[in-house]
Amino acid sequence: MTRDGLLILAPLRLEARALSQGAPSAWVVRTGAGPLRSSCAASRIIAAAGADDVHAPHAVAIAGVAGGLDTNLPAGTLVVADKVIDETGRVAALLPSASLIAAELNARGQRAVIGTVASARAVVEGAHKRATLAALGAVAVDTESAWLVSAPWEVPTAVVRVIVDTPERELRSLATVTGGIKALAVLSRTAKVLVEWGETVEAREVLLASPRSFCAGVERAIDTVVRCIDKFATPVYVRRHIVHNRHVVEHLESMGATFVQELDEVPDGATVIFSAHGVSPAVRQAADARALNVVDATCPLVAKVHNEVRRFSARSRQVVFIGHAQHDETEGTLGEAPDMVVLEAAGDVAALEVADPDRLAYVTQTTLSSDDVQDVLAELTSRFPAIVGPGANDICYATQNRQEALRSIAPRCSTVIVVGSPESSNANRLVEVARRSARKVVLVDDERDLRFEHLRDAPVIGVTAAASTPEMVVDRVLDALRGVGPAELREVSSTSENTSFSLPMEVR
Ligand code: SF4
Repeated sequence: MTRDGLLILAPLRLEARALSQGAPSAWVVRTGAGPLRSSCAASRIIAAAGADDVHAPHAVAIAGVAGGLDTNLPAGTLVVADKVIDETGRVAALLPSASLIAAELNARGQRAVIGTVASARAVVEGAHKRATLAALGAVAVDTESAWLVSAPWEVPTAVVRVIVDTPERELRSLATVTGGIKALAVLSRTAKVLVEWGETVEAREVLLASPRSFCAGVERAIDTVVRCIDKFATPVYVRRHIVHNRHVVEHLESMGATFVQELDEVPDGATVIFSAHGVSPAVRQAADARALNVVDATCPLVAKVHNEVRRFSARSRQVVFIGHAQHDETEGTLGEAPDMVVLEAAGDVAALEVADPDRLAYVTQTTLSSDDVQDVLAELTSRFPAIVGPGANDICYATQNRQEALRSIAPRCSTVIVVGSPESSNANRLVEVARRSARKVVLVDDERDLRFEHLRDAPVIGVTAAASTPEMVVDRVLDALRGVGPAELREVSSTSENTSFSLPMEVR
């Protein structure tokens, strides 16, 4: 018996035809409608595949139309099942394939939601029956999926259904005739995505870099906001994003934090928190002048760089800041000395203009790549031999550890997934580190940014996360990877971390 591609199961002739039209080379089998035909069809296919010289699927997708149970889901919406239940609520299958398939469909302009599909023994009509199934958590109902998906396929499975009838528009109404035609067109477009999902399915190894995710500075900053929300009148204002991660910001917003760009958006007398990236002295003075209740969540390692700048300036040295000009940390640090200059790359050294080449110092942004800094420093010291630097490297321990952990796995990986927001400096540097050795590197805010093309022909996938990324988001990415085949997960640790910082006085 050989494993030979994706098998698409469609209960009705019309559904099978629509799917075949959408993907002419697909292996589509019509099963017939209802529980009995579904069970028989699944048994028949599995028995045939077990016989000598017969091909077996390496992935199975069940696709067709369905009734809607949620008034928010109009006809034509695709439901990609993460769970299939029967009409008593018994779970027939949990499907990790849902998140990647739904993300791919949405990326191609199709309206897809992830949800529970219920299978009833007969076609469901009437508000009461729909409400009963909706109360079990289901958003769509059919009469086959539970029996088809619970067969012993022993390969990844997926269930995708297009809503035809809804609680407001019963199946036997005239409107469902046009709705049905529309649904079959949607189903037809879905076939290609299912085929590509099948092509992505393979057994793989997942190497999880450690350390990854939250550092001590990020934990301190988030704890500071949470404690301020508990302690002071809300809304509590946060100047700029507390850390550069969308999930963290949205979570804190839901708790009562209001994020602002500048202090003039903060009402008099309110509490304002400075983000982990630090602020310039001018911002502190402006807050003091308005007697705002300031709580400073600047990471102590960023504050250390500010101290270095002040120390060099006090000794009449002009400071070169190696970092990214548009980053919040750069903006804050530059405020410490009016004559500071920013260097983004080694190539910028030749054009650098300074007041006195013999009175120069440099500091760096905390979240740079150590490889890049070495390149810049080599150019700088070659052109300005008298330049001095900080006693210890400014790149923080968390940045270095995450880069080192990634370096240890990247050469073995076909694809590296860096979990982090695009505005995170830390995340972008991890991408650069991975690109030095991995074939494919992708930065994702969460599993919804993953595409089949990232995972195809990738027997070994590396996963890491920026210092601002919650571990819970990494777990979601790992769950999504299980949707494209069995994944053997191995955590590769390069060092352990036990750094912690005390909270600001105001919230201790
Ligand atoms: S990445 Fe480094 S500098 Fe930034 S918050 Fe974390 S420990 Fe502090």
